Amino acid sequence: MKEVLKNLPQRAKDTHNERAKFFKKLKKKPPKNLDLIMQDLHDEEFEKTNCLNCANCCKTTGPLFTEKDIIRISKFLKMKPQVFIDTYLQIDEDKDYVLQQVPCTFLLPDNTCLIYEQRPKACAEFPHTNRKKFHQITNLTQKNVAICPAAYNIVEKMQEKIK
Ligand code: SF4
Ligand code: SF4
Repeated sequence: MKEVLKNLPQRAKDTHNERAKFFKKLKKKPPKNLDLIMQDLHDEEFEKTNCLNCANCCKTTGPLFTEKDIIRISKFLKMKPQVFIDTYLQIDEDKDYVLQQVPCTFLLPDNTCLIYEQRPKACAEFPHTNRKKFHQITNLTQKNVAICPAAYNIVEKMQEKIK
């Protein structure tokens, strides 16, 4: 996995233009069964991916924390929401709450998550490859394929499947 993660940003860079062309076409005319195709590709990839061997998303990029996330997680940590915000979060340029630091504070040495059951929605949904109307998040996906080896593979297979 170490080697895969080391090479991933370069692989994503090398294939960026080809993927951009594919995404442009996809946006114009998404297949009717796109949601189904993506769910299958996503499930197939994550059946053989063990995120505990990776945790690259938790190490290199942080999630957004919604108000609901903050209330749920602070309650779990027995902290007041404002104390939780002051301790762990900051506001980014889009005015969203994000982590003060990466790797994520809640990532444990064995790659498990301290707040797994209560983790932010953005973490639970990452890398969003089974999201409905996947063609609407191609810009985000271009970023995610450089971080997440599973997302990279899913998009590669998608390109083979949808000509
Ligand atoms: S979601 Fe992707 S980047 Fe995150 S741990 Fe799993 S394989 Fe790695
Ligand atoms: S909250 Fe948990 S799942 Fe989300 S980035 Fe942090 S360690 Fe990873």
